[in-house]
Amino acid sequence: MSRWDADVAVVGLGAWGAMALWQLASRGVEVIGFERHHPGHALGSSYGGSRMFRVTCLEHPGLVPLARRSQDLWRQLEDESGRRLFFPTGGLLIGPEEGVIVGGTLRAARAHGIEVHTLTPVELRERFPRHTGVPGHHRAVWEPSAGVIRSEESIAPRPPLPPGRAPGCSPAAACGPCGPSPGAWNCGPPSASTGSVEW
Ligand SMILES: Cc1cc2nc3c(=O)[nH]c(=O)nc-3n(C[C@H](O)[C@H](O)[C@H](O)COP(=O)(O)OP(=O)(O)OC[C@H]3O[C@@H](n4cnc5c(N)ncnc54)[C@H](O)[C@@H]3O)c2cc1C
Repeated sequence: MSRWDADVAVVGLGAWGAMALWQLASRGVEVIGFERHHPGHALGSSYGGSRMFRVTCLEHPGLVPLARRSQDLWRQLEDESGRRLFFPTGGLLIGPEEGVIVGGTLRAARAHGIEVHTLTPVELRERFPRHTGVPGHHRAVWEPSAGVIRSEESIAPRPPLPPGRAPGCSPAAACGPCGPSPGAWNCGPPSASTGSVEW
């Protein structure tokens, strides 16, 4: 494709935009992304080394299937990019038993049969000694399937990159800066053999 021809334009290449770019490019869609700074900058929500990943969506149990699908896609992105982006460390949430955080997490876990372990403040202190002084009416929920996502690395991988992949791109998509605007990024489906892309 020519540098400015695309079927879809994605504006904003934070986590959401970068993943949209990757998924569209993976489907063979010709897609162009625009970022007002550069992918992986420090001025957006996706900045930094880590984000917590959980499938027990405390906001609403109906989000759990989306989180599970997202977990599959993180694994796929790791496979395609050859980079480790998800670390299954387990995750801990602490709060009042009936509160938004613990109550919502337990509701999602029960609705979808997700393994979680509820700890009293005493049990919490025994298992995680740094958590002292937690009020008696609080509970901790340990979710073994939770982990840490390397947020910035998934948007703008650090060199060395596979041939044909420019810095500042979602690792699975073969991308490069394009056109007269420094903020435009052109992506095509990654080639399994070389990772190169035709413009
Ligand atoms: C401190 C912090 C901790 C968090 N912790 C967690 C966590 O543990 N777990 C979790 O799941 N979530 C967490 N989140 C939330 C998560 O990080 C965000 O939901 C996610 O990063 C949002 O991604 P985004 O792509 O929507 O936004 P952004 O990363 O902000 O991306 C938007 C992009 O659009 C660009 N842009 C805006 N306007 C234009 C324009 N006109 N033209 C071109 N580009 C434009 C911006 O420059 C930016 O790069 C946390 C957020 C913060 C801030």
